[in-house]
Amino acid sequence: PPLAVTEMFAASVSAYGDSPLVDFLGRRYTYRAIAREARAFAAGLQALGVAKGDRVGLFLPNVPVYLSAYFGAMIAGATVVNFSPLYTRDELAAQVADSGTRLMVTLDVPALLPTATDVLAATALEWLVVGRLARMLPRWQGLALRTLRRRDQAPVPDAANVFEWPELLADTAPAPVAIDPEHDLALLQYTGGTTGTPKGAMLSHQNLTANARQIEAVDPNAHQRDMIVGVLPFFHVFANATLLNRTVCNGGCIAMLPRFHAAQALATIERVRATTMPGVPTMYQALLDRPELSRTDFSSLRTCISGGAPLPLPVKQRFEAATGARLVEGYGMTETSGVVSTNPFDGQERPGTIGHPLPGTDLRLIDKEDDTRDAAPGEPGELAIIGPQVMLGYWNRPDAAARAFVERTDAAGRVSRWLRTGDIATIDDDGYVRIVDRTKDMIAVGGFKVFPSQVESVLIQHPSVREAVVIGVPDAYHGEMPRAFVTIDPARPVTSGDLRDWLNARLGKHERVDKVDVRATLPRTMVGKLDRKALRAELAAEEA
Ligand code: ATP
Ligand code: MG
Repeated sequence: PPLAVTEMFAASVSAYGDSPLVDFLGRRYTYRAIAREARAFAAGLQALGVAKGDRVGLFLPNVPVYLSAYFGAMIAGATVVNFSPLYTRDELAAQVADSGTRLMVTLDVPALLPTATDVLAATALEWLVVGRLARMLPRWQGLALRTLRRRDQAPVPDAANVFEWPELLADTAPAPVAIDPEHDLALLQYTGGTTGTPKGAMLSHQNLTANARQIEAVDPNAHQRDMIVGVLPFFHVFANATLLNRTVCNGGCIAMLPRFHAAQALATIERVRATTMPGVPTMYQALLDRPELSRTDFSSLRTCISGGAPLPLPVKQRFEAATGARLVEGYGMTETSGVVSTNPFDGQERPGTIGHPLPGTDLRLIDKEDDTRDAAPGEPGELAIIGPQVMLGYWNRPDAAARAFVERTDAAGRVSRWLRTGDIATIDDDGYVRIVDRTKDMIAVGGFKVFPSQVESVLIQHPSVREAVVIGVPDAYHGEMPRAFVTIDPARPVTSGDLRDWLNARLGKHERVDKVDVRATLPRTMVGKLDRKALRAELAAEEA
């Protein structure tokens, strides 16, 4: 049956009330403690006039108050909007305005509060609520507190519409709000912005709880309550599903770090005897680069799930060898509340694939040229999905939402609506799905479509090449032409011209690149994806 996030939370509070929900650098907060604050925050919101469906923004790193604010806003019937703590003032202002956020919760640190205060002045945002980091830290961290006072605290402005967190907490019970789990929005979650301006995905209560239960269903150890290291930023959809909702669903505890720090993550795994740690590939890579790795006790760790970007095989193999735990690759997107598919946690994995769809999720491949047809068997096509975790639509963007879905009619005449992922995939005979490219990254050379991943996979075989990205650049004759950007092994120097000739000799006529650009580094997005948009913007700036 459809379930509201607030109902899922309430059930866990009654089942696990005195167990820890949060470990913050050693200080523990029980389910009951977080619930008490969440209800007080909900009542405080209602006293201000925040009503059902109003947007409440969270501009926070991973701190305990995030959870109280998240559940509290939903108890008041509001829709949570996640803002990346790395946003600049302009990025934040744009999303606050687009979402129509009325109240925003932030922290008294120099990286956030001045930005939040500027946005309060520049937009229709009505109230700012400021948590104090020092109050959330373990009491014994006297030294940390003193250091904080000097360096890391920003003064809370004295204004009528700026509250400190405790000021907003009301000691009355919140008025009950009826929630329709299938239609009421729990979360307005902006997409990663890898291919364009982020769009607000409208996620219902049922979307979020369904995804938490789907993830639980594929975890053979789900009956054991997890001790989960929270290094993925909460604002991100992958963390929302695998870290937050999933943990609350099974009564586990999140050992959270305010920001990712590899050595601290290793120390935390050992200190709390962590059972799992979801992450993006660059995080696992960073752990592997730490000298503390060989001294860390990983005996409590079971299966970790990697997602957000392709998991390189060497990272998987080295992580598994170093920890004795499994690292499985999953796949998902903002529009699907986090997770679509994963390799089995205990069964047969197929590295390089994203495994099978979660229970209750179905896939199909759409023909690349004609979206009224499916791709021919064995051919790559655009991955389309259907399932309880698929968003209701895009906020303020009915145009984009209309393009995001494709309809199919089955033999019985029933019409179903499939979400187009924008990812090109293949499915093998055993049902394992492989992501090949994004549709937006395909390069149109004359009348031909070139897959950048095809060119990259050839280039990466050259002994000097470490990383490779291929994008389309404007070409007077062909319309577009592939161009490669690489980083190379300094011990094996090679010229750009030699690399181009070596590569082009191994490619089909239309795949040939105009140039191989050798770089010291390649740009990456905040979650570690290769940033093709940044490369394109750089080239466009050069043209202009
Ligand atoms: P935008 O939609 O705004 O351009 P985005 O698609 O990067 O940004 P997210 O929703 O955070 O924003 O990311 C989802 C995308 O991440 C997927 O569509 C897919 O391209 C990529 N992705 C996620 N997991 C994997 C994986 N395991 N392998 C390859 N790609 C992945
Ligand atoms: Mg996307």
